[in-house]
Amino acid sequence: SLPDDPPYLRGLNPPQREAVLTTEGPVLVLAGAGTGKTAALTARLGHLLYTRKAWPSEILSVTFTNKAAREMRHRVGALVGDVVEGMPWLGTFHAIGAKMLRRHAELVGLHPNFTILDTDDQLRLLKQLVLAADLDEKRWPARQLGGLIDEWKNKGLVPADIQAGESERYANGRGGELYAMYQARLKALNACDFGDLLLHMLTILRGHREVLADYQRRFKYIMVDEYQDTNSVQYLWLRLLAQERKNLCCVGDDDQSIYSWRGAQVENILKFEKDFPGAKVIRLEQNYRSTPHILAAASGVIANNSGRLGKELWTELDAGEKVKVLGVWDGPEEARRVGDEIEAAQRNGTNLDDVAILVRAQHQTREFEDRFIAIGLPYRIVGGFRFYERAEIRDALAYLRVVAQPADDLAFERIVNTPKRGLGDKALAKVHQLARAEGVPLTSAAARILDTDELTPQARRALGNLVGDLARWRQMAQELPHPDLARQILDESGYTAMWQAEKSAEAAGRLENLTELVRAMEEYENLGAFLEHVSLVMDNDAAADEAKVTIMTIHAAKGLEYDTVFLVGWEEGLFPSQRSLDEGGLASLEEERRLAYVAITRARRRATIIHAANRRIYGQWTSSIPSRFVAELPDAHIDSESSMAGGESLWRANWSERADPFADVARGTGRGPGWQRAAGVDFAKPGGSFTSRTFTREPARVVEARASAVSLGNKG
Ligand code: ATP
Ligand code: MG
Repeated sequence: SLPDDPPYLRGLNPPQREAVLTTEGPVLVLAGAGTGKTAALTARLGHLLYTRKAWPSEILSVTFTNKAAREMRHRVGALVGDVVEGMPWLGTFHAIGAKMLRRHAELVGLHPNFTILDTDDQLRLLKQLVLAADLDEKRWPARQLGGLIDEWKNKGLVPADIQAGESERYANGRGGELYAMYQARLKALNACDFGDLLLHMLTILRGHREVLADYQRRFKYIMVDEYQDTNSVQYLWLRLLAQERKNLCCVGDDDQSIYSWRGAQVENILKFEKDFPGAKVIRLEQNYRSTPHILAAASGVIANNSGRLGKELWTELDAGEKVKVLGVWDGPEEARRVGDEIEAAQRNGTNLDDVAILVRAQHQTREFEDRFIAIGLPYRIVGGFRFYERAEIRDALAYLRVVAQPADDLAFERIVNTPKRGLGDKALAKVHQLARAEGVPLTSAAARILDTDELTPQARRALGNLVGDLARWRQMAQELPHPDLARQILDESGYTAMWQAEKSAEAAGRLENLTELVRAMEEYENLGAFLEHVSLVMDNDAAADEAKVTIMTIHAAKGLEYDTVFLVGWEEGLFPSQRSLDEGGLASLEEERRLAYVAITRARRRATIIHAANRRIYGQWTSSIPSRFVAELPDAHIDSESSMAGGESLWRANWSERADPFADVARGTGRGPGWQRAAGVDFAKPGGSFTSRTFTREPARVVEARASAVSLGNKG
């Protein structure tokens, strides 16, 4: 860089500078992970402000998370000073949509002070509508309707746009009708849901030329980070706003598109050049984040995807350590190893804030949380609740608490009408009254009130059933092992069925969490010991300013980076997920592989990938085989260590000989003991030998510290 460079240009490489300085006209920055896309976007914002090309209020900058928005504000602030205080249009699509909609609410029949419903409110409303429409909620769950409406909103479709074919997807063709009813109801309540924040704005921009013209004039510059994960409504909205001045700069990476399940369309990258002819496409190829080994490992995996745009990536960083691939016996050993390694690193000066554990599914965090609590290692869960704080876990625990501790009124209140038993507020108020009058716990009051004529017949029946169930479960608690007891209670109470009736991805996650809860119970001697453990966990909030290990899903880690990263549970059926394998399509497998790419590229200096040979489910050993993504890691860049003698190397050899890596997907047999047999390895013999042995590969060729090029071929 030149000596008289303004501060925001210092250290940027030539293509980054080009992205910053090409302020006029459409620009697409297409580049791999860690190449400084977000850094360039931040500098660009600084440049626009510093050179007074625009006032803060004349720039629209879209980030993927609120956290990213805060960070960008902070960094630009450091570059150009206080002006950023007034950056009203820097934020997520939703935050910006909400702000705009408040200014024009009346154009879609809302008051400017409209409420934004959360998903619970939304669901309650949908349930009312389903009932009002005389539909059987069991057959046509409200949650399913909610998912469909979200999908339509993500596509930018208002009720009038819903064709018969689409409508057919709910309640024999009544989908569109219910969507219209829902929108009308929201309007009557002066409310909107998240999807509306953008959809209403799209409607307004399309229907009111003067409003559109005003924004088109106002926004001299528009910038979007993580562009590969925009959905249709976001894209349509951007295109309208940018159509006049065409100063739109989007940055993204097709290999990191991981939100198609939420309607994101990686095709938006391809559409960009079509919709904005003459767009300047800038590619960044130098990675500043990861060591060559980490980069090569990530590149080796993603090279197995088809239809990529293709990129070159290189780095000047020192080779550093190879990616460690660790095979362990089971889940608890995985958690133990990670805990041990983090403690060892900590002794060598590692700050816990620089360490992350990335999981594929939320329920995986539980094993780590329990372990870290046990050894006193502070942690935080990002982008979700800590395991024992999740709603479904609290519900299940409440059932167990009422059974174990009949005087636990809080627990009783939580479960008394979950799932819905038709116990109204009136009936419950009477139970409370009696409990207070007689100085007894709610469960006792509930039993006693049945002897009176205080309740309606319906409430009486419902409460009678619950009281009977509780008595029976308390009896069962004397006889059954506590995990079995938990399973019975969750089934007989109708709690499991409640979630099974919902067909959403979220409900599936909740069911997985419940399974995980029962699994966790197996590790404790009895119900009392388990509940004791849980209350200690709940109490274990580390001080806010204390350094902590971060545990989060790969999805939540997008755009972030950590010195040391543990990638856990790399097993077929867990990652790639069973769902992606069952769907069987190449597209879902490729999305999983992009997730693997995102996961590996979060690491700056050290990455450890772990797979366990066994996962214990319902007290049964379930053998698992390492993820195909493990086999796709290039040999020269990994160090394998396995606690299963011989297993790892044999298995890898077998994988790499396979001619067609997708053959198993085509056959729909993405997982199963067949793989294991084919590899000639018995990974999963309970009680089998698991002496620790390290396999170090032959000294790999020295990776050039300077400019070691990692080529990502274009297979598409
Ligand atoms: P992702 O695809 O994961 O979002 P990205 O392309 O947005 O990655 P950044 O997060 O912007 O990459 O940058 C990755 C790292 O490289 C950051 O630590 C950033 O500070 C650093 N970096 C970016 N550009 C440069 C540069 N020109 N010189 C030195 N370091 C840089
Ligand atoms: Mg980024």
